[in-house]
Amino acid sequence: MKKEHLFILLFILFTACTAQTNVVSPKENRTPKSLNTPPKLVIGIVIDQMRYDYLTRFYNKYTDNGFKRLVNEGFNCENAHFNYIPTYTAVGHTSIYTGTTPMHHGIIGNWWYDKFLKKSIYCVDDTNYKTVGSSSDKGNRSSFRMLATTITDELHLHQNMNGKVIGIAIKDRSSILPAGHTANAAYWYDGSEEGKWITSSFYMNELPGWVKQFNNLRKPDEYLSKPWNTLYDINLYTESIVDDNIYEGKFKGEEAPVFPHDLPKLKLENEGNELLKATPFGNSFTTDFAKAAIIGEGLGKDDFIDFLAISFSSTDYIGHQFGVDAKEIEDTYLRLDKDLASFFIFLDDKVGKDNYTLFLTADHAAVQVPSYLEDLKIPSGYFDAKRFKTFINSITLNHFRSDSLVENISNFQIFLNKEKITALNLDIHKVAQTIVDEAINFDGVYKTVTAKTLQNTNFTNGVLQLLQNGYNQKFSGDVLVVPNTSTIIRERTGTTHGSGYNYDTHVPLFFYGKGIKKGKSQRYIPIIDIAPTLSNLLQISFPNTNTGKIIEEVMER
Ligand code: ZN
Ligand code: ZN
Ligand code: ZN
Repeated sequence: MKKEHLFILLFILFTACTAQTNVVSPKENRTPKSLNTPPKLVIGIVIDQMRYDYLTRFYNKYTDNGFKRLVNEGFNCENAHFNYIPTYTAVGHTSIYTGTTPMHHGIIGNWWYDKFLKKSIYCVDDTNYKTVGSSSDKGNRSSFRMLATTITDELHLHQNMNGKVIGIAIKDRSSILPAGHTANAAYWYDGSEEGKWITSSFYMNELPGWVKQFNNLRKPDEYLSKPWNTLYDINLYTESIVDDNIYEGKFKGEEAPVFPHDLPKLKLENEGNELLKATPFGNSFTTDFAKAAIIGEGLGKDDFIDFLAISFSSTDYIGHQFGVDAKEIEDTYLRLDKDLASFFIFLDDKVGKDNYTLFLTADHAAVQVPSYLEDLKIPSGYFDAKRFKTFINSITLNHFRSDSLVENISNFQIFLNKEKITALNLDIHKVAQTIVDEAINFDGVYKTVTAKTLQNTNFTNGVLQLLQNGYNQKFSGDVLVVPNTSTIIRERTGTTHGSGYNYDTHVPLFFYGKGIKKGKSQRYIPIIDIAPTLSNLLQISFPNTNTGKIIEEVMER
């Protein structure tokens, strides 16, 4: 070997060994195939806590270019549902993007009790990584607890890691999980300082220039500099109940839950720029950033398919605080409609009308405020979690002479203390079955089932099937509890979600753009069908644990 050849070889080896990222560099440029002409950009839009009926209730007040554009020019799946329990944010986003349920993807809640670590964990926490973009710890995150690949991962794998995948949401989990394990970036909001988009060292070591520039604009200050008033005359808001009512939560420091909400003043008592999350301007801010991402990353510009996964989180914060029927919700959706319209026009202009495909859905819906339903004589109520725990302990005391056989109760699941049960020479299945038989007598409990039953039976319909789809043998509890309809754990104002009832499972689902037919369907469509439908549209592999089916009727060809 010539001396200079040896030198070159050594240089290559040295470079390869010291490269900071991509020890394996699978990225190889190649000419994209042309089986059919796929879109240049796919956009996933998830609206946190959007009920299907928000589309129809406020329909006459929507503009022509927002939701109505999807109704008139896209494909509307009018009967789309989540097909598992629990209907929480992390679970919803993961199920949409992996095409399957917690049974397979492993994200069983936002937070859950980890039986192995014996503590409560957060779905995207990861201390192996650091915040990039601020000095808080809100960026110590990754996707590692999600055990499946996403449609976004599969797109990357299909294109030898070419094409860009970017996740954007105010909530970390709603950005990280959809963008997948191989994302180029996922960004979320940190309102603890000036209000900035941040990320994790899981993705990069420094924010790109366009993100820094965007953060320097200090938009949260601007958005919180004036009161939140209604977009139109409040007297026209006939689709919601009276503004001042006992079912709505107030911002800290507010006397009544009414317009105008004095944001500059409320900011002082409501964690500064964190307040932005619980206003419709959090959605506008997300839209601004999504547009900046398209320009900053040049999405939809080259021959590889890019994927932008956006989630609008403010709808959920506002929904929790004010409830389904509030004027605040109506105003939030009318404003979101305008944000969507401006985003769609932006896409037409910057990416080109024939170059993108999008879907829009929600991660779960929500129940009307139970205290409101109570006043209307509709069966509903509040589940007393503290009293329930005491009740369960009294059951085990009666039957097994110990009131400490339960290790944790969370997300309507009971985790038994296996060490203790073994030490007392008890049969765990007998303990679990006894709890099932007795817990049904507790106020607000509709159904109870043991994990063993879910393991041994194949349920094909009803609430037990939903529970089974949401049950993960490795991570879930030993006894699962289903509360009555419209029965939640919460104070008497505002609302929540998590059940398998229609008010939590029924969400909008639209497909729109390249390759999509105009039309609608009233057929029951489980939300896990979104990912395989996109796989088919893009002619790429399904996510690795996909259990959904292709929604054939949305396809143009
Ligand atoms: Zn959510
Ligand atoms: Zn109000
Ligand atoms: Zn929520």
